[in-house]
Amino acid sequence: MSQLARRDFLNGVALTVGGVLLSPRAALGLQADDPASVYPPALTGMRGSHDGSFEVAHTLRDGSFWATASSPIDTGERYDLVVVGAGISGLAAAWYFRRGGGPSARILILDNHDDFGGHARRNEFKVGGRTLITYGGTFAVDSPAPYSAVASALLADLGVDVSRWGQMFERNLYAGLGMSAAVFFDRETFGIDRLVRAPAAVLERGASSGTGQADPLAMFLAAAPLSDQAKRDVGRLIKARTDYLPGLDDGAKKARLARVSYAEFLVKLAGCDSGVLPFFQARPHALYGLGIDAVSALDAWGLGLPGFAGMQLEPAAAPGMGLDARPGPRSPFLHFPDGNATIARLLVRQLMPHAVPGRSGDDMVLAALDYARLDEPGPVRLRLNSTVVRARHASKPTEVEIDYVRSGRLERVRARSCVLACWSGMIPYLCPELSRAQREALAYATKVPIVQTSVLLRRWSSFHALGLSHAHCPGSFHTSVGLDLPVHVGRYQPTRRPEESIIVQMTRTPCRPGLSSREQHRAGRTELLTMTFATFESNVRDQLTRMLGAGGFDAARDIRAITVNRWPHGYTYQYNSLWDPFWISGAPLPCVAARQPFGRIAIANADAAAYAYTDAAIDQAYRAVGEVLKRL
Ligand SMILES: Cc1cc2nc3c(=O)[nH]c(=O)nc-3n(C[C@H](O)[C@H](O)[C@H](O)COP(=O)(O)OP(=O)(O)OC[C@H]3O[C@@H](n4cnc5c(N)ncnc54)[C@H](O)[C@@H]3O)c2cc1C
Repeated sequence: MSQLARRDFLNGVALTVGGVLLSPRAALGLQADDPASVYPPALTGMRGSHDGSFEVAHTLRDGSFWATASSPIDTGERYDLVVVGAGISGLAAAWYFRRGGGPSARILILDNHDDFGGHARRNEFKVGGRTLITYGGTFAVDSPAPYSAVASALLADLGVDVSRWGQMFERNLYAGLGMSAAVFFDRETFGIDRLVRAPAAVLERGASSGTGQADPLAMFLAAAPLSDQAKRDVGRLIKARTDYLPGLDDGAKKARLARVSYAEFLVKLAGCDSGVLPFFQARPHALYGLGIDAVSALDAWGLGLPGFAGMQLEPAAAPGMGLDARPGPRSPFLHFPDGNATIARLLVRQLMPHAVPGRSGDDMVLAALDYARLDEPGPVRLRLNSTVVRARHASKPTEVEIDYVRSGRLERVRARSCVLACWSGMIPYLCPELSRAQREALAYATKVPIVQTSVLLRRWSSFHALGLSHAHCPGSFHTSVGLDLPVHVGRYQPTRRPEESIIVQMTRTPCRPGLSSREQHRAGRTELLTMTFATFESNVRDQLTRMLGAGGFDAARDIRAITVNRWPHGYTYQYNSLWDPFWISGAPLPCVAARQPFGRIAIANADAAAYAYTDAAIDQAYRAVGEVLKRL
């Protein structure tokens, strides 16, 4: 805990406002009978994979669940389809099945969380009479490759117009207030706390440095707390055009770069001082959940990190290139205030219109969902807080039995078909009848842990005073900190004045440099599952104070609420040329063996494509539903 005067937080909400002790809901201006009290997006504190969502699954993993389980209570319910997992893939599977099977098709969707959308999670905060909305996971429609025809058509059917971004985004708001990017150097890693404004050449993909009299790169390096040699090396990497693999052709260079980490490239090939490593260490965190020790130099080139300008690499993908780093056209970009939770909500509205008011994509942003109606009797039902523990073909070969735990009770439903749209790593525990080879292939899909922390600030004048809109923090607890993007949609308007409340987004990707990629992810997951909300809270307060104190930031006064979106099972694992030999050699991929249908059970989820994006979740749902419809 820092030396700050500590205010009391309960479930993420500051309890003292103006020196008066308040209940969490009163602190947010909520009335006693306010429906937000049972409205999951408005809950603060430890969210994401919240307490209560994973314990049953962990006893299943540990082999103790069935030893103490009683017989399932048969609910007597029969469905045409049961979907396990209410993420984008599960919701899309229900949507495709209904389209294929007709409006009377009976569908049940089960999820272990108290909210739907999977990683596409929404966070809401109430400040006075105003609602501020942000994302707790999936940020945007934004994929390194173009959306497939299938995924594009689904978005169009939902009324999502991906060409609108230019009209929704107030691009010049922060720049117009003199605010831009910075790097925060922390004293534990760099010897001193220092916030340094960063020119585009330092943080942006492929940007070149200025060469005018007031060279912004030179100014940045002069202020950066790095050794003189490290400064010279960073400057050289960004500016010089050296070929560090002379004499090799394009293919041979890329083959070599795929087999060395970016950290090795910097020191061994580019001859940099090891003092540059902490500066670059966290640059791939946001996409890979790993640092430069575990990401290849080939991927670093694809991500636009410096050092490759003189290597004359053809802008074409090569064997072993990470999916995030592939050159070539990307999907369109579109960010709703709650990220892709809007897509999840639009899917739910089409499946269960009684639970979601409104008609247009625009009114969805402020639509008040009635969670109590999601599981009402009807053709499509969504049952939350329900962890599936088994999916198996029943004594009748035309039926699948699905057992799940809800409120401590083991319940059973039956269905003519089942789509497992949950995480691949969970499926071997749900379907032990699968072949060993398929179970091993499924288990290969280690999830990437990540935390998206939403912090409600009373005002952002400290950011304004320091000219800061977002910062990369290579050695800090959260390696990225930024003001929420100013986006307007429908009746929702963003915060525009520094005196107003705003949401700050902070990202942490726990990993353990030195281990292999999947071991790092496992270590990060263990860390997240044991770390308390109090630890997150104290780190948020400490980090923001050290970054923004010179701008007048006062944690006790300025932080109003914190929502930690903890995702121990976060991104889908994407193959990595340093650790997955088959990814370079072109040998069969585990995800293909893993997603094969099993009788009337098919497998969806982004994990089935080993591609951590929303379009993969949709594409895999489409394929899986095609498989069960064919079988039916
Ligand atoms: C922090 C973060 C940011 C991201 N940003 C982007 C982005 O900007 N753009 C993008 O395209 N993608 C992004 N992604 C990836 C994207 O969110 C996913 O690829 C996509 O949402 C996956 O959807 P899904 O339905 O396949 O899986 P999930 O969203 O993981 O949904 C699966 C659901 O199944 C549930 N489940 C698991 N086991 C069981 C069980 N036994 N019983 C019941 N339910 C179970 C899970 O709890 C979960 O709710 C991001 C992911 C994260 C974590």
